[in-house]
Amino acid sequence: MNCLFCNIINGLTPSTKVYEDEKVYAFKDITPQTPVHVLIVPKEHFKDINEVKQKNSSVMTDLFNAVDMVAELTGIKEAGYRVIINNGRAGGQVIWHIHVHVMGGRDDLGSMIVKE
Ligand code: AMP
Ligand code: ZN
Repeated sequence: MNCLFCNIINGLTPSTKVYEDEKVYAFKDITPQTPVHVLIVPKEHFKDINEVKQKNSSVMTDLFNAVDMVAELTGIKEAGYRVIINNGRAGGQVIWHIHVHVMGGRDDLGSMIVKE
């Protein structure tokens, strides 16, 4: 399988590491939409939330533990931040290796979604 985020985890594609543990890898988004914009991915490949559930994996816990670590390491923990998973086509997912966006570094991140 040719997966960009698997390649990043394996070091085949360069990235700027923010945090890593046995289960997850966190790196800077290449096109940041907020001053702090970090992606957290499980080291094991799952395409989306449904696949995590089907495989009965505890990876969501690993990902959300890492969210707190990333928030602390990037200095946004106290002010607060936004956590986003774009899941599936309508959710705007373009890379089919589940990932959590951690976004912050601004006083007010604005409305949760763009209103029509
Ligand atoms: P999503 O729409 O949730 O699938 O988001 C994919 C995210 O991956 C986008 O925010 C992209 O900017 C980011 N991205 C794409 N390629 C890279 C890369 N090589 N390194 C870091 N982030 C990337
Ligand atoms: Zn992958």
